[in-house]
Amino acid sequence: MPIRLLSTDFDGTLIGHQPDARTAKSLFGALTSLRRSGAVWAINTGRQLWFALEGLEQAHLPHDPEYVLSSEKDIYRRVEEGSWEAFGDWNAKTEKQTLELFGRAEHVFSAIERLTDSEDGIEVLYENGRLAGLMTADSAMMDRTAELVREVSVDLPEFSFNRNDVWMRFTHREIHKGSSLTELGRLLGIPREEVLAIGDHHNDIPMLDGSAAGMVACPSNAVREVQEIVRRNQGYVSPHPWGEGVADAIRHFSRVS
Ligand SMILES: [Mg+2]
Repeated sequence: MPIRLLSTDFDGTLIGHQPDARTAKSLFGALTSLRRSGAVWAINTGRQLWFALEGLEQAHLPHDPEYVLSSEKDIYRRVEEGSWEAFGDWNAKTEKQTLELFGRAEHVFSAIERLTDSEDGIEVLYENGRLAGLMTADSAMMDRTAELVREVSVDLPEFSFNRNDVWMRFTHREIHKGSSLTELGRLLGIPREEVLAIGDHHNDIPMLDGSAAGMVACPSNAVREVQEIVRRNQGYVSPHPWGEGVADAIRHFSRVS
């Protein structure tokens, strides 16, 4: 199948964690030839839109993506240079769904606040004026915190979270990078078989589990669970890290398609 829609995570996938945050040179060629073939590209990130756009500016990519899927949820499209707008009614719909769920989750949030008060190294994060997630001092602490959040929300099965290393964002179980990518494919009329998704961390798993994309890949720096899910879905684990790995995966699926 040809690649018609590319969905890439940003941090740890397009760019490494080096201080200048520039992406790999080999990615230039891969993205340019993919665009020439008629494919469109979406950045699918946990960053909020403004922060994703700031990252794009610093990354010095050959061109902007046509779409940005931000906060592991919202779909934006580029309408003119430097201008982005919500695409379809997904953002409004999922915001309503989230608010409705959070309205029923007060006891969960209280339990989470008690947890963060009693433990050093957990920071509470707010977005749009509401409790949105947590940050922990290290990854092992986030492993434990994730278990505790699961325990305190067990009676509210729709309550979930997207986890990225030491970051956690609370969400509705059905709102994540995978469901927003599925919606983007639906809006564009591109079937999952023609979608390539590439990511490196836990919050990328919903777009790498085969439901949203028929082609899946990860760079060599991806965490173990991501590499496993990519292999399980006949995907491609690149021997190269970050941007090099993304370029390699694009070339790999362009050859086999
Ligand atoms: Mg990442």
